[in-house]
Amino acid sequence: MTQNNYYTAILAERSAVPTLLCGHCHSILSRARIFRNEGDQHQDIECQVIGLCSADDCRAVNCCDEAMEKLENPEQLLDIAS
Ligand SMILES: [Zn+2]
Repeated sequence: MTQNNYYTAILAERSAVPTLLCGHCHSILSRARIFRNEGDQHQDIECQVIGLCSADDCRAVNCCDEAMEKLENPEQLLDIAS
């Protein structure tokens, strides 16, 4: 069984820079809130990269793996975030 308490981030197709959207409310996920699922920030889901939604009424945990796979330069997103 897969857990359903998180969402899948969506890649914003038309933006000039790689941008991920919350899979729940479609808000832009800030790069500062996208991180590798490891260490202190580890979330208990099967996902390598996580994005936390910053919308006050959402706060969804987003799995960014699928969206990251579509990026030519997925590391770029994380490098800036770290
Ligand atoms: Zn959201």
